[in-house]
Amino acid sequence: MQCSRCHRDEIFFQPYSGLHLCSQHLIADVEAKAKKMIRAQGWLKTGDQIAVLLSGNQNSSALLYFLKKLTAERCDIRISAITVADCIGLHSNTSHAKRIAERLDADLIEVSLPEEFRIGTDTITGKKQDISSPQMLPASRSIIDMIAQQHGITKIAWGLCLDEAAGVVLECVIRGDGEKLVRSSSRQDGPLRICPFISVTATEVSQYAELCGCGDEPIPRPEPGDGLHKDTIAMLNGYTNNHPETKYALLNLGENLSGSPGGIAGLIHACEWYREYHCGCGNDGSIQIEVKNGAT
Ligand SMILES: [Zn+2]
Repeated sequence: MQCSRCHRDEIFFQPYSGLHLCSQHLIADVEAKAKKMIRAQGWLKTGDQIAVLLSGNQNSSALLYFLKKLTAERCDIRISAITVADCIGLHSNTSHAKRIAERLDADLIEVSLPEEFRIGTDTITGKKQDISSPQMLPASRSIIDMIAQQHGITKIAWGLCLDEAAGVVLECVIRGDGEKLVRSSSRQDGPLRICPFISVTATEVSQYAELCGCGDEPIPRPEPGDGLHKDTIAMLNGYTNNHPETKYALLNLGENLSGSPGGIAGLIHACEWYREYHCGCGNDGSIQIEVKNGAT
């Protein structure tokens, strides 16, 4: 099949647009979506020192590549990377993160969290931590924020993509937890999170990473979350097979619920919270967050 935009062979089909894309036009499409999101949210400003949260996985590596490329001619913006060892929810491969940062000529801040914030055992009691506890979640973020601020970082770039963001919106709806999406105004402490790939599908980010030479050494992800989360993702993916635009509709819903002037900060905050929560869940199918309004 021929590319819809030129005479080259297609390597990728976009179900939601009906377009067949060659490698060059897939790269252009991904970068156009990321640039549009950055412009819409005002995420690049003179004087910014942006650190990419570099786990070593494809999304974070591709994001560092993209931001370095985007700001190559900008002397007023600095792009670096920050990597966190054994942090809940990040699944860092620090050795790969180091190689990626070196390859892309980015300074790397290495953070080693205190033992009590790592996945595993409680250093005081010796027992397994209840890392699903809501009290645990902001703590690891606070330490990352503190270290980033010590290095003069103004924004932290996170490789969040459309699939994860749409899944969180649907999960918030199913759990009756809409307030997570609308309290962005209360989350202005610490460096702002920016997510240029939030409107790009996971498959597209993966293809982009491969095409840009960032696709090696993928990090195996653990089984995510509790039973409700798994069912939500399975339902969303199944529904999207027949209605390819569904994840974009959910992203728009999340952005609208987050409201202005916060943009999609509330959605990003909800994604951050849920990612840490899901990674702290056991795989016993239990629902550890209560479904609100009479379902319990
Ligand atoms: Zn083409």
